[in-house]
Amino acid sequence: MQLQEMREKILDAEFILVGLGEGFQYSWGALVQDDRYREIEREIGDNESCAWIVPFLQKMVLSREREKRWDQAYQALKVLVADKNYFVVSLCIDDYLYGAGLEEKRLVTPCGGFRMMQCDRNCAGELSKIPDETYEAVLQYYKGERPLSDLEEPVCEKCCGKLRFNQLGVSRYAQEGYLEQWNVYTKWLQGTVNKRLCVLELGVGMSYPGIIRFPFEKMVYYNQKAFLYRVHPRLYQLGEEIADRSRGIAENPVDFLASLGKGIC
Ligand SMILES: [Zn+2]
Repeated sequence: MQLQEMREKILDAEFILVGLGEGFQYSWGALVQDDRYREIEREIGDNESCAWIVPFLQKMVLSREREKRWDQAYQALKVLVADKNYFVVSLCIDDYLYGAGLEEKRLVTPCGGFRMMQCDRNCAGELSKIPDETYEAVLQYYKGERPLSDLEEPVCEKCCGKLRFNQLGVSRYAQEGYLEQWNVYTKWLQGTVNKRLCVLELGVGMSYPGIIRFPFEKMVYYNQKAFLYRVHPRLYQLGEEIADRSRGIAENPVDFLASLGKGIC
């Protein structure tokens, strides 16, 4: 009943805004269950100087295989927003969203991901490509064709500092990776004022409530034609002031999205 009502709301909406939170982040199951990866973890151990290899392995596994549970959820998302005027903001850094068949101009990932690298200190305010030779070397190491001692951590061409993936968590995060798209998003939002806007908030907790949670509530508060669905296993509560135009759903967001997609195809 609830799913049916949601599908109808989505179909009826002029604009759909989707927020994917930390609860949507890929759990790296494909990596954790991989025997060779577990062997590498043991070989690296607590050796800090080898820690840089792990995100390369994460990128590798993301480009190689995907997991059914997430595939189903993203497929459902694609089906739900198809032919609609939508925008997706995601806090996930796994880049899964970019392989979901959605239009890239309608996506923004303010926490970064694995698509570009940056100087750890962001010395020049710019991003750089992933060095092919490093990626290739890590891949060979993964396949057992090269020893760990052969691997060299990539460095910034300008200052020789560490080169890292453009993700929140580096010493000085390079916002250059998402700002342009963020501007597209804020312009898109302006177009939703007083329009039938359906907002889906999936797995958004309190890690960065200033990016998705609070602004979404505010949007729905001011737009009388907006409706907000908040799906989170624990933090699904909503304020009194938007009680008549919102619904909190206590469920796992990945499974919920997959079930929402069924039946609309
Ligand atoms: Zn640098």
